[in-house]
Amino acid sequence: MCGIIGYNGNENSIPLVLEGIKNLEYRGYDSFGCAFEGKDNNIEVRKDTGRINKIIETYGISSEISNKSIAHTRWATHGGVTKANSHPLLDCSGKIAVVHNGIIENFQELKDSLKNHTFSSDTDTEVLPHLIEEEMKNGKSFEDAVISTSEKIKGFSSFVVMNSLTDNIIAVKNGSPLVLGVKENGVFVASDVPSFLKHTNKVVYLFDGDVISVGKSGFKVLKSNNFGKHKVREVNFSISDVDKGKYRHFMLKEIMEQQTLVSKLVNSDLSYLKSAASAVSLSKKVFLVGSGSSFHVALLAASLFRDLGREAIAVQPQDLLNYSKTIGKEDIFIIISQSGETMDIIESLPIIKENKKIGIINTEGSSLANSVDYFININAGHEKGVAATKTFTMSAILSCLIAMFSEGEEKEGLNDLNLLNINLYNLFVPSVYNAIKEAASAIKGEKNLFFLGRGTDYISAMEAALKMKEITYIHAEAIDSATFKHGPLALISKGTYSVALVSDRFKDREINNLKEIKARNGKIIGIANEKLDVFDFLIRSQPAGIFSFVPQVIISQLLSYYVSLSKHIDPDHPRNLAKAVTTK
Ligand code: GLU
Repeated sequence: MCGIIGYNGNENSIPLVLEGIKNLEYRGYDSFGCAFEGKDNNIEVRKDTGRINKIIETYGISSEISNKSIAHTRWATHGGVTKANSHPLLDCSGKIAVVHNGIIENFQELKDSLKNHTFSSDTDTEVLPHLIEEEMKNGKSFEDAVISTSEKIKGFSSFVVMNSLTDNIIAVKNGSPLVLGVKENGVFVASDVPSFLKHTNKVVYLFDGDVISVGKSGFKVLKSNNFGKHKVREVNFSISDVDKGKYRHFMLKEIMEQQTLVSKLVNSDLSYLKSAASAVSLSKKVFLVGSGSSFHVALLAASLFRDLGREAIAVQPQDLLNYSKTIGKEDIFIIISQSGETMDIIESLPIIKENKKIGIINTEGSSLANSVDYFININAGHEKGVAATKTFTMSAILSCLIAMFSEGEEKEGLNDLNLLNINLYNLFVPSVYNAIKEAASAIKGEKNLFFLGRGTDYISAMEAALKMKEITYIHAEAIDSATFKHGPLALISKGTYSVALVSDRFKDREINNLKEIKARNGKIIGIANEKLDVFDFLIRSQPAGIFSFVPQVIISQLLSYYVSLSKHIDPDHPRNLAKAVTTK
C-alpha cells in the first residue's frame, strides 16, 4: 500500500513527480523519497520519514532539475518507519534505484543468496536493486536483469527501477496498480491516474505480469501476457477530483459529493446494470465479497437479496476458502472494491475461477476490474479520504439496484432511488449540521461508543462504527440491538453513550431495546426520522425505502468527521491506515 510515480521525458521531471506524489499521499504516508539523475549520471536520492511537504522543504528538492525521476510514499510492511527503510532503495554501486509497492514473500531467501552485497535497510524491497545489479554483473542487459528479477520474486509486487546508465525507466506490475500516462514528450508511470491527470489524460492500464520500458518519447512492452492490448485511452476523470476545492479536507468534500452523485445516478441510463442483473437472475446463490466498508455493502445487498427471496451470502475474502465446498457452478459472485486492488480478494480469485463474477469497482483498468465478467463502474470519482464515504454509498446503491433488477423489482428500486434523491435535499440542511456538530461535541471525550440497530440498521451501525474508529480512534462497537440483553448491556452504566440508528421499518422493536439502556441511565443519540422519547438527542435522518441506510450513514460520516476535527486528528490521514489495501 504505497504510492509510486516516475516520469521520463524532455522536461524537468522533479515538479511533475513531486506534484504527483503529493496526490498519491492517500496511499501511504509513513515516509517519502525520490531519486533523480544528478551530475555525471549519478543517481541522487532524497528521502526521510514524515510528511511529504516537510521532506521536500528540508532537502530543498524542488530546486533540483532532472529529466527522469521516481518517487515513493510508503506504508511500511517490512522494516520500521525509518529513513534507511524509506524508498527508493539502491544497489551497492548506487546506480540502480527502486521504488516498490507490495511484499516480496521470499525476500529472506533471496537476501541470503546475495552474499557479496551490502544491505542498508530492513525492507524486503532492497533485494530488488541488488538482484538487478547481480544479474547485470552476470552479463544481462538492464531490461533482461529486471525481467529475471521479476521472475525470482514471490508474492504480489509492482515496482519501478531507474538506472543511471540507461535512458529508460522500467516498470513491473504484478498485483499492485500501475498505469502509464502518455504525453507528447514524456511518459509517466504511477499508481493511479489522478496523480498525473493535470498533464495528460492519455493512459495505458497495465496488466499483471507486464514489464514495461518507459522511454522519453514512448513506452515499450518488454514482457506481457497481454501483448497487443496496451492501447492508449483517453480517460474522463475530472481535475476537480484531484483537489479539495473549497473544502478543508478531502473527506468532507467527498461526503458532500454524495448528494450530486445520487442525483446523477437518478438521471442516468441504468441499462448497463441489466446484463449483470440478468446474470444474477440465472444464477442460484449469490455470494457478495468485500473487505472493510465494502463488506458492509455486501451485507446490505445480501440482506436485500434474501428479502426478495434469493439465497445470498456476504463473505469476507479471507473466509472464502471456508465456503469453497458449498460453492456450486451456478452460483454468482458480486465483488465490491473501491480500488479494484484489494489483495485479499485478488488472492482468493482462484477459489471462484469457475464462477461468473460481477465487479462493483471504482477503478477502471484495475486488477479486479480486469478479472470480472461484468464490470460495474461505481463512478464515484476519485476518493482520496482514507475512510470510504462516497464509494461506500454508491457501491451499496448499485448493489441494491442489481438485487432489485434481478428479482423483478426494477420499478420499486427506481422509486426508492427517486425518494432518496429528493430526501437527500432535506438531509443537507443547517439544522442537521448543527445537530451533528452538537452531538460530536458531546461524545468527543468518550473512550467507548456503541452504535446500535436492528436488521439493516445494524449494518449501517457497523459502517458508522468503522468510520468512528478510523478517524477518531474512539473504540466504537456496533451491536445488534436484538442481542444487547444477551451480554453487551453489561457495558452500559450511567452516562455511557450509544448512537441508535432507527429506520421506520425496525422502529417499534428497537424502542424496547433502547428503553433497556435508558433504564440503566445510558445516554442515547438517535439517528432517526423522528424524535423518540428514548432519545436524549436527535439527528434527523430521512426515509428512503430500501436506501434508508444512505442518510443514516451520511450522518454518521459527518459525526465522525466533526469528532475527528475536535480531537485535532487529520481525517484524511488517520494513523496506521492507507487507502488501497494492496497487501495481505
Ligand atoms: N514492502 C515494502 C516496504 O515495507 C513496500 C511497502 C509499500 O507498499 O509501501 O517497504
